[in-house]
Amino acid sequence: MTGFDFDVLVIGSGVAGLAAALAAHQVGAERILVAESEGIVGGSSRLSGGLMMGAATRYQKVQGIADSPEALFHDYMTLNQWKVESAVVERLTSRAGEAVEWLGDLGVEFYDQLVYGGDESVPRVHCPIGRGQAVVDVLYRQCRESGIEFALGQRVDRLLVADGAVVGIASGTDEITAGSVVIATGGFGANEQKRKELFPSVFDTDWSYYIGADGSRGDALDFTRDVNAQVTGFNRGLRLLHTDFDKMYEAYIPGWLVLVNSEGRRFCNETAPYGIMDGLMQEQGDSAFAIFDHKTLVEATELGVARYKQSIPGSTKRQSPHWNLDIIEMMLKEGKVQKRDSLEDLAGAIGVPTANLIATVARVNELVELAEDQDYLKDPKFLEPIVSGPFYAVEVRPATCCFTACGLRINRDAEVLDETGRVIAGLYAAGEVTGGVIGPRYVGSGNSYGNCVTMGRVAGQGAAAHVD
Ligand SMILES: Cc1cc2nc3c(=O)[nH]c(=O)nc-3n(C[C@H](O)[C@H](O)[C@H](O)COP(=O)(O)OP(=O)(O)OC[C@H]3O[C@@H](n4cnc5c(N)ncnc54)[C@H](O)[C@@H]3O)c2cc1C
Repeated sequence: MTGFDFDVLVIGSGVAGLAAALAAHQVGAERILVAESEGIVGGSSRLSGGLMMGAATRYQKVQGIADSPEALFHDYMTLNQWKVESAVVERLTSRAGEAVEWLGDLGVEFYDQLVYGGDESVPRVHCPIGRGQAVVDVLYRQCRESGIEFALGQRVDRLLVADGAVVGIASGTDEITAGSVVIATGGFGANEQKRKELFPSVFDTDWSYYIGADGSRGDALDFTRDVNAQVTGFNRGLRLLHTDFDKMYEAYIPGWLVLVNSEGRRFCNETAPYGIMDGLMQEQGDSAFAIFDHKTLVEATELGVARYKQSIPGSTKRQSPHWNLDIIEMMLKEGKVQKRDSLEDLAGAIGVPTANLIATVARVNELVELAEDQDYLKDPKFLEPIVSGPFYAVEVRPATCCFTACGLRINRDAEVLDETGRVIAGLYAAGEVTGGVIGPRYVGSGNSYGNCVTMGRVAGQGAAAHVD
């Protein structure tokens, strides 16, 4: 197209942006520029595990796993009680498998073993060798070899608009025009103000912290105001359970811990997938106590390997960074762990009804004897008695903000919609910057990466077609 500096401009160089740029090139866009605010390519995508969901892939078939996009759609929608943009999710789930294979064709290698992301019927999460960084590296290399240009250190702060259509971007006084623009700027987790405003349930104390990239400041939510872009998905994202010990995230708590609520009652299978655990914690007022005794803590420490429900291929098995004797003793001195010789005293220390805590612990010990969790169906291999004092209690909250999911509303072609629901001509968005795709329940590991790569491709293809 003549008259513009570029055919397609992409803002942000995470996997959503890289997939969009490369997909635009593959369907014929010739002049493509990716503008990136940081000095390095990859955003949160490069820090990520890179686990990616996708159904009916060749990788599943090799393993004899029978799956279908329809099954993924069903799981996704049921888990989210249809509180998502259904048509967008249909596009995502129908193309996610193809997107995984696309990455494979480009050079991303996956472990043979597929894993469960959450509570789905079959394993459909693909684990890239070299984690998210490897995926970013492959996509970036392919982009460069395709002649796609990159402008690092360019923080976009404005969209250029002509006759109601988006025709470019600006960073300060620098303006660049294009036939279409794809926003792939990631989430807003690094912006505390926006986190409070748009994702307030990340427990609003100084416990709350973010583990993604610095560039996730939510800029796009500001610079799309001029075009009246619609924002959806309030208070959505992923929160992981966290102690008040440090800012080091641990995706799961070890299975041997027993969680009780403020009533001193157990309320869940402690090995529930984190997407489910997030919602369970919300029901409990976002606070619970992990209870255990000294003997179990010593045994878990001596084992030297954290006992989680699932191991991810490629992850080096190691001691839990929090749930071991050294750390617990250290945190005891800081007042972040309660340790008492009797359960009565422990209940008093954490302010839960004594009779309830004693009864809960008695029931746990009964389940251990039965070798079956008749209450919450936790795998019996994780059942440990709580019998020999001293006894411990540690408060946990869903305070680790892993990513955010409130953002721009898009249709199934990844076009950005305005406040009235109309398409904003020339403007596309994909990945963590969008809302309504990730629902109130995170489907599981790979939900976000699946969304970013799949909808990134959809956005890139649409943006290229818009230029024609
Ligand atoms: C530690 C960790 C592990 C994770 N593991 C997984 C996992 O295994 N599977 C999974 O599905 N999800 C995982 N997630 C979540 C997932 O990785 C992210 O949601 C996803 O990578 C976001 O991709 P994105 O392309 O939308 O954004 P990003 O990768 O964050 O890229 C956005 C880019 O836009 C740039 N940008 C922002 N504003 C501007 C601006 N104004 N101008 C120009 N550039 C701008 C940013 O600097 C950034 O480089 C994990 C997240 C973290 C933090």
